[in-house]
Amino acid sequence: MVNRKTPAINRVVCPDCDWLVDISATTRKSVRCPRCGHRLAGGKAVSANSILALALTALLLGLVSLWLPFVGYSANGVTQSMSLLDTSRELMHFHERLLAILVLFTIAVIPLLYLLAVSWVFLRQLVAGSKPPGPITLYLIRTLVQLRVWMMADVFLLGALVSLIKISGLASVTLDTGFYSFIAFVIMLLIVADKVSRYQLWHLLPQQQAPAATSGQTASSQGLIGCICCHAPNSKQAEHCWRCGESLMLSRWRGSKLTIALLIAAALMLIPAHLLPVMETTNLGRTYPSTIIAGVLDLWRSGDVPIAIIVFVASLVIPVAKILVLLVLLWASSGADKRQLKQRLWLYKVTDWIGRWSMIDIFVVAVLVALVRSGQLMSVYPGNAALAFALTVILTMLAAMTFDTRRFFKDKENL
Ligand SMILES: [Zn+2]
Ligand SMILES: [Zn+2]
Repeated sequence: MVNRKTPAINRVVCPDCDWLVDISATTRKSVRCPRCGHRLAGGKAVSANSILALALTALLLGLVSLWLPFVGYSANGVTQSMSLLDTSRELMHFHERLLAILVLFTIAVIPLLYLLAVSWVFLRQLVAGSKPPGPITLYLIRTLVQLRVWMMADVFLLGALVSLIKISGLASVTLDTGFYSFIAFVIMLLIVADKVSRYQLWHLLPQQQAPAATSGQTASSQGLIGCICCHAPNSKQAEHCWRCGESLMLSRWRGSKLTIALLIAAALMLIPAHLLPVMETTNLGRTYPSTIIAGVLDLWRSGDVPIAIIVFVASLVIPVAKILVLLVLLWASSGADKRQLKQRLWLYKVTDWIGRWSMIDIFVVAVLVALVRSGQLMSVYPGNAALAFALTVILTMLAAMTFDTRRFFKDKENL
């Protein structure tokens, strides 16, 4: 029998420290893990109506932005304009298929799929009320949680601004309607992602098959494992989460060996990413290969110091710091006191959050290649470093995702 009523208590395993916490299903207050302070339930729930309206508006703005002219460029009597889709189209044209797919997915496909999934889930909630969701809705709810980190429309916007500043010395640049609608899309997307709380989603699900668990203890001390997606306690032997259906393999995989392997791969990729040219510019018959750091120095020399600093931080400081911080956190002993635990968790969260902003460099290349194209006097081509750098960013993001913060607590609780 499936319980059609909303459960009174939502039992979750804290993803940071493995503590089992009971949360009242009706609470409107922000609930934090009593052991590590991780925010387990978000305050005010937003009505399904409002989320649906916001998601549909964002969806519409996103679709419109894809086809409207984004920015225009004119130099030496040549005028060109580009749409957002031109960024991946031109990368494809230069045989950078992986980069083209990455750009298309992170700025358009994933955000639009996310908004479609949000619209479906909340429309269904309005129509079906508290009826338990079917397999499609469950799949979409899981997808919502997983897609979030890969939406990079906001990073792209910053990348587009950097590339426009880079090129403004060589050509006159005009911002078209697509640029303004894309800004509105990014703002709406950020609002929707902020309003859709995963805990609001899980409260809709039945609790009937939950394994016996006692709150106020670690999950692993009771032979349980927390679902990486919905944080429900599951039996260690289970294949899939009883509540959201997510595979528990990923929850089991979280651990140092996988994280170290990903960090080593990221560090290796960082070498070609900085040694090879990220972009080649042909101007008046001469070709200038440019590495990421050479691009930063050009910006600095031309007086765009703040932009030079942003690109330098995003392309070198963040990836290197992220690899080093995660290695230090992996190496740090687990018998830390409360203050050290807090510092380590904070450091991990900042590292995890900041990683995606490194993609700025890739988006700068994508916009410049699409905007300048093969002009009569000037052309911009993507260099081999672009793919290596994109792989560095993805590998460090995956390393942060697989990092198991429960290791900080090991000695104390005998996990
Ligand atoms: Zn916790
Ligand atoms: Zn789950």
